[in-house]
Amino acid sequence: MRIGVPREVKVHEYRVGLVPGAVRELVAHGHGVLVEAGAGASIGFGDDAYRAAGADITADAAEIFAIADLVVKVKEPQPPELARLRPGQLLFTYLHLAPDPALARALMASGATAIAYETVTDARGGLPLLAPMSEVAGRMAIQVGARCLEKEMGGAGILLSGVPGVPGAQVVILGGGVVGANAARIAHGMRARVTVLDRAAPALLALDVEFKGMVETLFATRASIERAVLEADLVIGAVLVPGGAAPRLVTRDMLRRMRPGSVVVDVAIDQGGCLETSRPTTHADPTYLEEGVVHYCVTNMPGAVARTAAVALNNATLPFVLSLANRGWRRAAVEDPHLAHGINVHAGRIVHPAVAASLGQAA
Ligand code: NAD
Repeated sequence: MRIGVPREVKVHEYRVGLVPGAVRELVAHGHGVLVEAGAGASIGFGDDAYRAAGADITADAAEIFAIADLVVKVKEPQPPELARLRPGQLLFTYLHLAPDPALARALMASGATAIAYETVTDARGGLPLLAPMSEVAGRMAIQVGARCLEKEMGGAGILLSGVPGVPGAQVVILGGGVVGANAARIAHGMRARVTVLDRAAPALLALDVEFKGMVETLFATRASIERAVLEADLVIGAVLVPGGAAPRLVTRDMLRRMRPGSVVVDVAIDQGGCLETSRPTTHADPTYLEEGVVHYCVTNMPGAVARTAAVALNNATLPFVLSLANRGWRRAAVEDPHLAHGINVHAGRIVHPAVAASLGQAA
């Protein structure tokens, strides 16, 4: 199969659909890979690395869309890319169509078959192509939270780890899923005192087993959340209600009663955030102060560590790209219902029931 990798054109997107290591695997399976010049350059994957992996390079994005059977990207196609998609072509990327009817219409009009990373499932009911970004964001949340606790960032002047004779920061993590568990791993590794709250008993059990009781787990109720947040130096927002807005678990009133210079990193901001006082920020201006508490609410945290994020994403997508390329999408989807769940658009229709429902259409 001919596989095309255009350079991402969305503003501030530095990741790339296939890194050289993934290209080498595909070439070894007999596929041809055409990469746009400079596609990975800003994260250290130069054209020479792609050539060494067996790819051809073109300076012309249009050529990629003209000849590729399968286009592998990161972000949803932008207008110039939408105009280049062809009937029968296969697109594999993040799409997030539910809130974007215009994009859905354009994809239907293209005649391409679009498989969305975010709706591919796994045997445990998880979303394996979203999980790597949650791993990145969860780990990064502690790194940025530790920095925000420093005086010059508006923080209380607390070293996350403490030192002998001085306790480490109290980190409270709301939600013990992928983001929360990864935040707990880094916070605990940095010797902070860590409490995780969740309303799902299995999540709390898994954390209790993993950390052998060295991370405190609490069942999330209004009372337990309030008690924990008022004691916290650093709060991480990491809850998710699939398909819904994040529940507002921390009120402005609670925030007022936190210690001045405390920090919240609301990772769940991409679903609206789990604090009443959260509003989206960018990497260019990531923090603001509200009720004396530093807020970090960047909606695309992995963008700051695009190289790690691109490789992590490729590790998760490569088995599916190989399956699509080796078998063709029809056979691949029949053999793997989890991959089939990724198909959002085919032959001019939205075919994913939940995506269709949220767009007000029949699948
Ligand atoms: P997940 O499904 O793995 O975990 C979410 C957890 O929240 C679950 O364990 C669930 O039981 C818990 N939960 C839900 N409602 C709760 C409530 N009322 N009280 C307590 N716990 C509750 O999800 P995840 O992958 O960890 O993602 C968490 C959030 O982070 C999502 O909103 C996701 O979109 C977001 N995210 C943001 C970025 C970013 O750059 N800002 C990056 C990746 C993920």
